[in-house]
Amino acid sequence: MTAAKPISTHGARLERLDALAAKEGLVLEQDVPLAPLTTLRVGGPADRLVLARTRESLVRALRLSRASGVPWFVLGNGSDLVVADAGIRGLVIRNRARAVSVEGEALRADGGAAMAMLVKRCISDGLTGLEFGISIPGTLGGAVWANAGAHEGEMRDVITAVEVWDSAADTERSLAGNECAFAYRESRFKHAPEVILSASLALHHGDREQIARRVSEHQAQRRATQPLADQNAGSVFRNPPGDHAGRLIEAAGLKGFRVGSAAVSTLHANFIVTDRSAQAADVRALGDHVRETVAAHFGVTLAYEIEFVGAWDGEGAR
Ligand SMILES: Cc1cc2nc3c(=O)[nH]c(=O)nc-3n(C[C@H](O)[C@H](O)[C@H](O)COP(=O)(O)OP(=O)(O)OC[C@H]3O[C@@H](n4cnc5c(N)ncnc54)[C@H](O)[C@@H]3O)c2cc1C
Repeated sequence: MTAAKPISTHGARLERLDALAAKEGLVLEQDVPLAPLTTLRVGGPADRLVLARTRESLVRALRLSRASGVPWFVLGNGSDLVVADAGIRGLVIRNRARAVSVEGEALRADGGAAMAMLVKRCISDGLTGLEFGISIPGTLGGAVWANAGAHEGEMRDVITAVEVWDSAADTERSLAGNECAFAYRESRFKHAPEVILSASLALHHGDREQIARRVSEHQAQRRATQPLADQNAGSVFRNPPGDHAGRLIEAAGLKGFRVGSAAVSTLHANFIVTDRSAQAADVRALGDHVRETVAAHFGVTLAYEIEFVGAWDGEGAR
């Protein structure tokens, strides 16, 4: 006689989540490959995945996750992520809540709104201040989380308020821009159990043609300097004070350096590009090699800008 297979605590929680979701009519997909949902296109599956098309469905999914004790991960456009080859244990909530409203010079949008879509809305409404956002291929929530920036602009320049769901208290509340602890690629959201539901931006009326021209110039600049035709997740490392990570990596002779399916871009040394069917482990090994080599050459320890998420320690690996 063989012993009955013990139900892991995680497995039991997932069953509870499934049961709660079924009661609420929420569709959870099982074992969903995450690589296609990220720009780097690496990584394994999510135990469960749900698409949230509205702010209400996002909060509903978060509450179910909280009630069942299953860890959750909010996925924006996956443009800053390296998902582990073993995937993500728990519920991945793909945020596609994207309502937008404009009143005078104030724009308010849900966290799942694409930055490019917001920039286009600004062009058609003659609002200036968010042109830099055309170079950030993520959602508003992801951009606020990272205090993303480009072309001398950053999210903190335009954000006046952020509405969040606080998982510790299971409440929604509003934070003023100056409560968000924005700094270079930093915000409180990287450290607090808060999900960005929406954000308000202060912009200015401007000339539509000039705004559109600035946006086109930004796009042309990026096309010329970044490997946009390849799979990548943007800048791998933050720039160290007073220098550029790309300059240091190039000076260390690492342009084109490869580990398996991942390589340092020959166009921009602070980008890692991946082959089709690439492995997340190759990206990590290459990134760590770059860090060690730059540290050995220049005594500068680069900090990752991209985020490694999921079961990297093999815990919960399938
Ligand atoms: C070609 C390319 C160019 C890029 N250029 C730039 C650039 O110029 N400047 C720059 O700053 N970045 C750049 N990036 C990186 C990336 O686009 C930004 O960091 C972007 O803000 C990530 O948004 P996302 O929706 O893709 O987030 P994801 O990658 O999906 O998620 C990143 C993190 O944000 C969290 N998150 C997402 N939404 C929410 C939410 N609603 N509430 C709480 N947390 C949330 C996720 O849980 C995760 O921890 C670039 C990336 C690429 C691929």
